[in-house]
Amino acid sequence: MTKDAQRVLIIEDDKPLRATLAATLKAEGYAIVEAGSVTSARQRIAEGPIDLAVLDLGLPDQDGIALLIELRARGDMTPIVVLTARHDEATKVRALDLGADDYVTKPFGLAELLARIRSALRHGVQLRGSPPVVRTGNLTMDLARRIVTKGGADIRLTRKEFDLLAELAIDIGKPVPHERLLEAIWGSPDADIRYLRVYIGQVRDKIEDDPHHPVLLVAEPGYGYRLS
Ligand code: CA
Repeated sequence: MTKDAQRVLIIEDDKPLRATLAATLKAEGYAIVEAGSVTSARQRIAEGPIDLAVLDLGLPDQDGIALLIELRARGDMTPIVVLTARHDEATKVRALDLGADDYVTKPFGLAELLARIRSALRHGVQLRGSPPVVRTGNLTMDLARRIVTKGGADIRLTRKEFDLLAELAIDIGKPVPHERLLEAIWGSPDADIRYLRVYIGQVRDKIEDDPHHPVLLVAEPGYGYRLS
């Protein structure tokens, strides 16, 4: 393990899956710490700082959600990527609401998981720095001055379009719930979600290379949207 390697804690009781994840992440240069239960995860966390946790929810001693609640309750904001079963939409939403940074549904591709891990680690770094300028691809968003450029060219956004994009930009890489977006734009989480869809479409028209195949402003079905 190199001095600068970021430490990833894999909390997963399925041993073959855990071994695959560990080998894949090691190959990407991460230092790996492993746990097969919530109890063992607590011990690993107490032993030394970690940069990110991959958290399976179905664990033998307790639900992984219990560990998530515990960490966030004591102010531990270590990025956490949750692993959930595909059918379990309600659990996924609950995990995000309780402070998980992201989720990957089983079965998942390793490339997808790696992308989510990189994104969550970036997000963790960003929280500490909080730059008023957010960049992704060829898009630059100056949140303080309310200026958005794409490939250096100004993009003209209406006030609501900017507010929507800014709300996503401050949590770039992370799914943002519909209610929070509605609140940010219309001042109420109970505003009509159909309006939100209209504005999402308008913003996509302005920021995406191909608005019909969005890669920057992506939907998180049953939850909200994410700026990638
Ligand atoms: Ca499991």
